[in-house]
Amino acid sequence: MYCKGKLQKGLHEFIAKVEDQIVVIKDLPALICTQCGEAYYDDEVMDKLDKVREKINSGNFIAHPMAAGELKISDIN
Ligand SMILES: [Zn+2]
Repeated sequence: MYCKGKLQKGLHEFIAKVEDQIVVIKDLPALICTQCGEAYYDDEVMDKLDKVREKINSGNFIAHPMAAGELKISDIN
């Protein structure tokens, strides 16, 4: 917390980029700085993010390719 902005509870979007894969995890509970937009996660969320990273790194994570605007293929009929 470097900028001394106020922290507000909210939902944040976490974007992980691993090699050529981009994984977006939506609606993560976080404390978000109202000044710079930096998000701070609690231990439980950090833990989950670590697990996601591990899975991506070991190739066990099946991510749906995202089109522009973050539409999933399964969203389109
Ligand atoms: Zn800040």
